Amino acid sequence: MNLRPILLLLLLSAFATDALAQDKGSVDPKPLPPLDNPNDPKLGAKELFGRKVLPATGQTRVIGFYAKGCIAGAEALPIDGETWQVMRLSRNRNWAHPEMVALLKRLASKAHKEAGWPGILVGDMSQPRGGPMLTGHASHQVGLDADVWLTPMPNRQLSREEREEMSAVMMVRPDRLDIDPSTWTPSHLAVIRAAAEEPSVQRIFVNAAIKKALCREAKGDRGWLSKVRPMYGHDYHFHIRIKCPTGSGECESQPEPSEGEGCNANDLAFWF
Ligand SMILES: [Zn+2]
Repeated sequence: MNLRPILLLLLLSAFATDALAQDKGSVDPKPLPPLDNPNDPKLGAKELFGRKVLPATGQTRVIGFYAKGCIAGAEALPIDGETWQVMRLSRNRNWAHPEMVALLKRLASKAHKEAGWPGILVGDMSQPRGGPMLTGHASHQVGLDADVWLTPMPNRQLSREEREEMSAVMMVRPDRLDIDPSTWTPSHLAVIRAAAEEPSVQRIFVNAAIKKALCREAKGDRGWLSKVRPMYGHDYHFHIRIKCPTGSGECESQPEPSEGEGCNANDLAFWF
């Protein structure tokens, strides 16, 4: 039996949960009830990781794979920067490897300078110690994944309520075959390109309709397009994944995406 289609489907269904990134939060989140028996070997890891409110201290260590692992020594992205704001603070998922935190700060500044956005809105990164989550995301487990909204940061500081309640803007047309021209702008391409051009970035996930638009609209050097991969969901936000940082011997890397731009009709047909 050929297992490849089944494996692919499993992988895709795992990623589809990323769409939950737009779920609303609460300014007054109820703490999770304590576990009756935290040492129960049958207890899901997400129950334990989901209850950690602070990172494991000490040297930064990335352990495992994007979709099965954890991180020690994670750093928090401050919830406000000159050119970024963190959304859904109640989730406490603004933790990552220091390289990812630095990258997001650089990207925020580029979105301002090169795309003319006031800044970026940052969605889920990882939990304080990474690991699986009680809601959403199969990946985001090792502090090397981050979601950035495809909605520019407003030119003011958002309130706590707005950060929980505000919705990102849908970029895909109702028939799902292309971007929505009433919301998609050249500045969206500029922000995604700025992220893809970062040398440490391994992959970027966007909806196939967005990939199609990038293929059509990218001018000049198009090498960065090979890193931008279609994935279900990802129509309100894009997902940045960085490589295993140097010296992370316990980090399990992923093969580099193939060289091509991924812009042929054949490359995209599968998704439509
Ligand atoms: Zn994501």
